[in-house]
Amino acid sequence: MTSKLSAVKGMNDILPPESARWEWFESQIRELMRVYGYRNVRTPIVEPTPLFVRGIGEVTDIVEKEMYSFTDSLNGEPLTLRPENTAAIVRATVEHNLLYDGGKRLWYTGPMFRHERPQRGRYRQFHQVGAEALGFAGPDVDAELILMARRLWTMLGLRGLRLEINCLGQSAERASHRAKLIAYFEAHAEQLDEDARRRLHSNPLRILDTKNPAMQELVQGAPRLLDELGEESRAHFEGLQQLLQAAGQEFTVNPRLVRGLDYYNLSVFEWVSDQLGAQGTVCAGGRYDGLIEQIGGKPAPACGWALGIERVLDLLAQAERQPQAAVPDAYVVLAHAPALPRALQVAEELRAAGLAVLMHAGGGSMKSQMKKADASGARHALIFGENEWLAGEVGVKSLRAGGEQQQRSVPLQPASLLIDCLSGA
Ligand code: ATP
Ligand code: MG
Repeated sequence: MTSKLSAVKGMNDILPPESARWEWFESQIRELMRVYGYRNVRTPIVEPTPLFVRGIGEVTDIVEKEMYSFTDSLNGEPLTLRPENTAAIVRATVEHNLLYDGGKRLWYTGPMFRHERPQRGRYRQFHQVGAEALGFAGPDVDAELILMARRLWTMLGLRGLRLEINCLGQSAERASHRAKLIAYFEAHAEQLDEDARRRLHSNPLRILDTKNPAMQELVQGAPRLLDELGEESRAHFEGLQQLLQAAGQEFTVNPRLVRGLDYYNLSVFEWVSDQLGAQGTVCAGGRYDGLIEQIGGKPAPACGWALGIERVLDLLAQAERQPQAAVPDAYVVLAHAPALPRALQVAEELRAAGLAVLMHAGGGSMKSQMKKADASGARHALIFGENEWLAGEVGVKSLRAGGEQQQRSVPLQPASLLIDCLSGA
């Protein structure tokens, strides 16, 4: 026997009926983006590796150890399966000069790839939805983006998501904070874990983002970036907070919120749930005013977020928010084989009228076909038997409990008779 093949570890098949929840979620996302005026962008899944090294930052979890990178065997080009999509959106924005006539509001969705240890809420292929507002300095769009996520929770019927915000300031402020941070951690060198020791001089801010429980106390006592902020950064942060308050949105300021990617400045935020175990961040984002220039564009500010679809769907499953499974309006039972061409034609007419019709396939007795019709969840069985065929009719039987159990014959001409019969009560 040949050995069985299975999916790559940490990469999932999404199957019915679970896929119905995905489709429903995607339809809500499209509606959300429509009402906020964000327009869809689709970029390739593979990008040149330097895009992410430059865009995300060399000393980050993603670039250091999570990327699926390979060399194009034909031309030797270093390529990477996208670990996130903001860098690619910025690349596309610059490449196609999208900001030539002002700011743009864009959104995307699709699979992302990171070589992480698979666990609940953490996969190697996972899916994100992202919204990016490019060319706007904020804090108005920062608030808009946050409120947009809030509207999504409402649309999905999700409760209990907390908002945390922080301000990362500008690079000069981060530099002065950085010096204090290094001094602080050097003074407590014996408490640093291996990751932290490695990052102490390359990216000390990221030490604040550690998930190591043993380091939490040390990190709590570290100098705060908020204390280094100058007037402009403070005003931006104040502005955001006022807009959120005016919109009735509660939040907590979390000075340890630094985000895993290097490109952020000023506003950063996370929507967090307590119902997901260790992987509680559902939606995360912030401002990245330097990225467009770093990717080779004319300097322009930008802000955005990305949400992890698997984590949101986990919350939906817990809330038992299962969309109605799509059921066929009719299941076609072929009791008289020569009626097949006519049955196909009738099925096409019904579908053209918007009805969902499942054709029986694979032959079998009338009894076994009726069993399949029942199991399909269809509302009606359409029975093409010999008598009906001769009379130019079809037998219609309700399959719903409480429905009319008697089979009745409905003429096939005009087609509206059958359509009314199936779409009516
Ligand atoms: P984490 O701290 O959980 O690793 P991150 O900071 O790396 O998250 P981002 O790069 O900001 O995450 O991605 C935005 C969102 O995408 C996350 O908040 C999360 O919901 C989701 N996400 C990130 N990595 C994964 C993954 N490996 N599997 C599933 N979802 C993920
Ligand atoms: Mg991560």
